[in-house]
Amino acid sequence: MKFNRQLESIKTYEGGKPIELVVREFGIDAKDIIKLASNENPFGTSPKVIESIKQNSNQVHMYPDDSMIDLKTALAKKYNVDSKNIILGAGSDQIISFAINAKANRHKKVLTAKTTFAMYDIYAKQIGAKVIKTPSHQHNLDDFLHLYKKEKDIGIIFLCLPNNPLGECLDKEDVFNFLKNIDENTLVVIDGAYQDFAKFKDAKKEICPKELIETFPNTLYLGTFSKSYGLGGLRVGYGISNIDIMDALYKMRPPFNVTTLSLKAALESLEDKEFIDKTMQNNFKEMKKYEDFAKENKIDFINSYTNFITFTFSDKKSSKNIAQILLKKGIIIRDLTSYGVNGIRVTIGTPEQNSRFLKTFKEVLTL
Ligand SMILES: *Cc1c(COP(=O)(O)O)cnc(C)c1O
Repeated sequence: MKFNRQLESIKTYEGGKPIELVVREFGIDAKDIIKLASNENPFGTSPKVIESIKQNSNQVHMYPDDSMIDLKTALAKKYNVDSKNIILGAGSDQIISFAINAKANRHKKVLTAKTTFAMYDIYAKQIGAKVIKTPSHQHNLDDFLHLYKKEKDIGIIFLCLPNNPLGECLDKEDVFNFLKNIDENTLVVIDGAYQDFAKFKDAKKEICPKELIETFPNTLYLGTFSKSYGLGGLRVGYGISNIDIMDALYKMRPPFNVTTLSLKAALESLEDKEFIDKTMQNNFKEMKKYEDFAKENKIDFINSYTNFITFTFSDKKSSKNIAQILLKKGIIIRDLTSYGVNGIRVTIGTPEQNSRFLKTFKEVLTL
């Protein structure tokens, strides 16, 4: 069958391999498998969230409250904005698609870093919008500005701060200086999926959504419950922007796009500050072990502001190979070959998971 031509250039999104698949393919017991591939929270989610899901399970026969006002109000309070400035999505992924559908098209291009979150590219291509990428893998604002001026017909710019899958993060001050050069009719999306981690490590990275949208009315800030809050399986994300951008995004939204249990769980997760604190403390304490390991073993890594760390290899070693051997040993990490990077991305796990990873990684490196 023939499909729309623009689909030909799309590479289907590949998530981290699920544990069940490794059980089936390699016959390894599920309890012996560790997944450090999708930047999930190694502690699961807050016990309060689990309790709330149980409490609300008797409501699943009814459609969700489509105004989603409880969660919007809680987020509005957290960020000191109005609930009218907030849209919720089935993951912030869905809001990326709303933004692209609202603002890019055959004549309006999308500008991104060379190596960044794959969905910007996929959603753009679905609607036949061209994607322009910077020559440098990591975010380089000079490159962005040069291409923005050269291309003239950029509809949306995506800045992933910090960047997945590399882990680097621009300083807020540099981002704000960059934004001064962007036309008010170009939408700039700041993807803050890992902002909790970045600001915990370094206050210079923190982008406050309120200040962002008040200073630059052409911006959209994205956040998610999938990473620090540990709700990847429930699919909840949000966008924060000025009302005129909101109006456009709401036109793209399917009805009931966030489920009842997801809304309740996300609301409850905002209450458990202790859980988030434990997550952050563990993340950066454990990341240090990865950095020390890399230095001892002379492997390059990118200074990370997220809950993962990316190692890159010289030509002598193949990341694809390394990932495959680790997989056979029951450790799932992310190979970055499909991003054009000879490297692997490893989610920071619990202390036990990290010890096992580093021990096995050492064995694999000496093979
Ligand atoms: C995980 C992630 C998202 C979105 O995740 P959802 O689960 O769809 O909320 C968005 N951007 C980046 C950079 C991510 O890593």
